[in-house]
Amino acid sequence: MNTKENLIKKSLPRLKSLLESCRLCPRNCSVNRLENKKGFCNAGLKPAVYSYAPHHGEEPPLSGIRGSGTIFFTHCNMACVYCQNYKFSQQISENEITTDELANLMLSLERLGCHNINLVSPTHYIPQIVEALSIALEKGLKVPLVYNTGGYDSVEVIKLLDGIVDIYMPDMRYSDDAMAEKYSNAPNYVKHNRISVLEMQRHAEILIKIERELRYRAL
Ligand code: SF4
Repeated sequence: MNTKENLIKKSLPRLKSLLESCRLCPRNCSVNRLENKKGFCNAGLKPAVYSYAPHHGEEPPLSGIRGSGTIFFTHCNMACVYCQNYKFSQQISENEITTDELANLMLSLERLGCHNINLVSPTHYIPQIVEALSIALEKGLKVPLVYNTGGYDSVEVIKLLDGIVDIYMPDMRYSDDAMAEKYSNAPNYVKHNRISVLEMQRHAEILIKIERELRYRAL
């Protein structure tokens, strides 16, 4: 069993327990997602996936030459008036799958040659995603995991992803809470966003050190 599998074993029970009175994001809706009750994001127990495919228009280091393996999750814990994915972030409520099926999606993207698994809007499905990752790792998944978030995350949840997520790609959409409320209905976005991003940066510190070292050697 590798390190990531060990970390999942430790974090997954805690992550799942957050679904019982949902506190997966700063909204703290306190609905019982284990009983398929729905809060602000309208997500139930099973993960809902709108689409999955190699994406060649991501940041170039992620898309590479064979694409980033994006999985677009249905629903969202934000409600941005400018959302380019409005139809499936706010309106559609189908396409639910099991965690086994989600694991198979990850593996199929790897088989297509994608350089990574890119989770788009993962915040409201993190326990289900980590469970699927555990299944996919058992079946041989090798590529890194990208956490591609709108940035309205709970730092307690992000802490539980240390060593499980490989690459963070958070938005930092607002520096003014009044704007965050007006355009995304996201109270206290700035505080939650900054604390979470700092925690993500802490997880990536070793990579930042390696990158600095490589640059220094190249001089
Ligand atoms: S993930 Fe959804 S149900 Fe849970 S606290 Fe956030 S908005 Fe509410």
